[in-house]
Amino acid sequence: MLVTGGAGYIGSHVVKELTIAGHDVVVYDNLSKGHREAVRGGTFIHGDLADKGLLRETMRAHGVDVVVHLAADTSVAESMSNPAVYYQNNVVNGLTLLDTMLECGVKRIVFSSSAAVYGEPEKVPITEDASKRPTNVYGETKLVFEGILAAYDRAYGLKYISLRYFNAAGADESGEIGEDHNPETQLIPIVLQTALGQRPYLEIYGTDYPTRDGTCIRDYIHVSDLAVAHILAAEALMNGVPSNVYNLGNESGHSVREVVSVAEKVVGHKIPVREAGRRPGDPAVLVASSEKIRRDLGWRPRYANLEDIVASAWKWHSRHPRGYEAG
Ligand code: UDP
Repeated sequence: MLVTGGAGYIGSHVVKELTIAGHDVVVYDNLSKGHREAVRGGTFIHGDLADKGLLRETMRAHGVDVVVHLAADTSVAESMSNPAVYYQNNVVNGLTLLDTMLECGVKRIVFSSSAAVYGEPEKVPITEDASKRPTNVYGETKLVFEGILAAYDRAYGLKYISLRYFNAAGADESGEIGEDHNPETQLIPIVLQTALGQRPYLEIYGTDYPTRDGTCIRDYIHVSDLAVAHILAAEALMNGVPSNVYNLGNESGHSVREVVSVAEKVVGHKIPVREAGRRPGDPAVLVASSEKIRRDLGWRPRYANLEDIVASAWKWHSRHPRGYEAG
């Protein structure tokens, strides 16, 4: 199995779970955002998706039969200021991957998509058939690639499962791998960095949303539960299921203020916050229906409550306050 982006936050957890489940894994990552130390299993290849020769050689040398494709740029804000890079890396380089797969006779792929494909939802919980109107370039690139996969299935018989993640959070129970972005933009790591005194306060982006406390509501899902879904998807593809698309969330929403108060409970002290303006492109409420993947693939989250998710993230951040940098 080839895992692109296997040195990233979600990818490293996918690699760990695949290895535990006994799969042979080849990790392919250019380390532009990922961390070599995060790869805890499999064979590591330092390579870029644009390098067709190396991709081909890797697929042939390792007898790859399924690809789990997570390599992508993931910052919403950066996608708006630098769309060229996002279309290049998330779409054009993804096409190189697909074309190389077809050349090598590899016809199964699990794709890491995003709730960002939906944009502002008409109703929650969001089901897979809801309208897709991304509000940022990142979401557009994910939606475009989903369309490419459908076309490649029709034309070339490529089978895919797209997993639309809601808000990935938490860290592996070992406390050895976790979230480490530079710059960090995700709520839970920022809250915990504030708890560690690395930031003076958390800025709450928007307190005038039409929600119970005025702050945005998101569906936080543990990264190891996401990782397990990739294994189920890859195994289903190997068993010959048709192509499909699934949401992945916990089906419960938490506001920014609720996240802060759960984090205060986990760390045992107050976390300073400041109220700030809205961040452009943020929908008020994003909550998944994950009924389809529960039904079709038997997926069940192990971490159903936010406190356990935040506690696992705290284990990582408190033990590795400077992320992978300090080893
Ligand atoms: N958020 C916030 N302050 C921060 C970072 C995030 O208030 O410093 C809010 C953000 O506006 C959103 C929620 O926290 O409503 C989750 O944001 P994150 O960037 O973690 O994930 P996203 O929902 O954008 O994928």
